Amino acid sequence: MPVFDSRSFKNHEQVVFCSDPATGLKAIIAVHSSALGPATGGTRFWDYAALHSGAPVDVAETRGEQDAVYDVLRLSRGMSFKNAMAGLRLGGGKSVIIGNPKKLGTPELMRAFGRFVQRLGGVYWAAEDVGTTPAMLQAASETTQYVCGLEGGDFGTGDPSPHTALGVFTGIQAAVKHKLGKTDMNGVTVAVQGVGHVGQYLVEHLLKAGAKVVVTDIVDANIQAVKAMGPVEVVAPAAIHAVDCDVFAPCALGGGLNAKTIPDIKASIIAGAANNQLESEGVEDEVLRKRGVLYAPDYVINAGGIISVESEVYKEPVNEAARTAKVLRIGETLSKIFTASDKEGRPTGIIANEMAEDIIRRANEAKLAAAE
Ligand code: NAD
Repeated sequence: MPVFDSRSFKNHEQVVFCSDPATGLKAIIAVHSSALGPATGGTRFWDYAALHSGAPVDVAETRGEQDAVYDVLRLSRGMSFKNAMAGLRLGGGKSVIIGNPKKLGTPELMRAFGRFVQRLGGVYWAAEDVGTTPAMLQAASETTQYVCGLEGGDFGTGDPSPHTALGVFTGIQAAVKHKLGKTDMNGVTVAVQGVGHVGQYLVEHLLKAGAKVVVTDIVDANIQAVKAMGPVEVVAPAAIHAVDCDVFAPCALGGGLNAKTIPDIKASIIAGAANNQLESEGVEDEVLRKRGVLYAPDYVINAGGIISVESEVYKEPVNEAARTAKVLRIGETLSKIFTASDKEGRPTGIIANEMAEDIIRRANEAKLAAAE
C-alpha cells in the first residue's frame, strides 16, 4: 500500500501509524506542514472498511486502510491551506482512527491515542472532528496536553460554530459585493442547506441583515428553531440546491457540488460552511466558473472555527475583539481570491490553493534562513 506514491501524498513532513492492540486502536497521524506553527487539525473516527462491506473481510480492511491513508493525507494538507489562508500561526495536520466509533470509541482507546499524540511533543494538535465527541477528546486530554477545542479550563475557546457562522456571513457579504455589486444584504435571497450548529447562527445573521432566507434540514427540530427566529421559507432537502436564489450556502455535508447537482443550481454565488463541497478540486469549481457562478472556496470561508481555537494552542486567554477581527478578515481574503480568479480566468479553488502554498513556502524559507 503506497504512502509516498499515494496520489494524496504532497510532501508531507511526517506520517505516523499508531497501534494499541489492548484497546483496538489503529490510527494515523499526518503532519503536512509545521512551517507556520504546530500542525493542528481534527481527529476523524471512521469505519473505513464499512465502505467496502460487499468485499471479503480482509479485502474490505485493506481497502479501508487505503482510504484512511488517502483521507488523512488529503485532510492534513487541507488544514495547512486553511490555517495559512486564515493567517494563523498554525500548520496543518490531521489524524484518523480506523473503526466504528460507537463500538471502539472507549475512553481507554482515546487515552491510548492521546499517548501517541503526546509522543510527538506538540508537533501535532488534535481537535474534534467527524466521529469524535467532546467527551472522547476530554479522555485523550488525560494523556496528552496537545488537544484543543476543549470546554472550560484556563484557555478553552468553547463552541467554534458561532465564529464559523460569522466567517461564512462575512464571506457571503464579500461575494455579494463582488458578484452582484451590492454592499448590503437587503432583499438578497440565500438558500441554506442544513441548519445545525453553524446554519442556525448563519440564519440569524442573514435575517438581521435583511436577507430573504430559504432553509432545509432533515431534522424537524432544527427547522423549528430557525422558524422561531423570523420569516424563513422551508423547502424539501432534495430541492434546496435548485432554489431560485442569489446565494446557495451548503452548511450540511460535503460533496454536494457535483455533476448531478450543478446543472440545477440557479444561484450566482455558492458560499457555505460545509467542508469538501466539491467532489474534486479544480473540476467542479471550473465548471461553476464557466457557468458564471462564483464559488467561495470552502476552507477559506469556513475558517472561523479554527481561528477561534488558535489562542488555545498558544495558551493565550481568549481576546474576543482580536478573534472577531481575524474572522472578519475572511471577507477580504475571499475578495482577493475572487479578483484574481476573474483576472486570470481560473477557478477560485485553484487560486486559493496556490495562495496558501505560497504562504507556506515563504514560511519554510524564513524558517530555514533563521536556522542558518
Ligand atoms: P451540524 O451537524 O450541527 O449541522 C449539519 C446540519 O445539516 C444538521 O442539522 C443536519 O440535520 C443537516 N443535514 C444533514 N444532512 C442533510 C441533508 N441531506 N439535507 C439537509 N440537511 C442535512 O454541523 P455543523 O457543525 O453545523 O457543521 C456544518 C458543516 O460545516 C459541516 O460540513 C462541517 O464539517 C462544516 N464546518 C463546521 C464548523 C463548525 O465550527 N461547526 C467549522 C468548519 C466547518
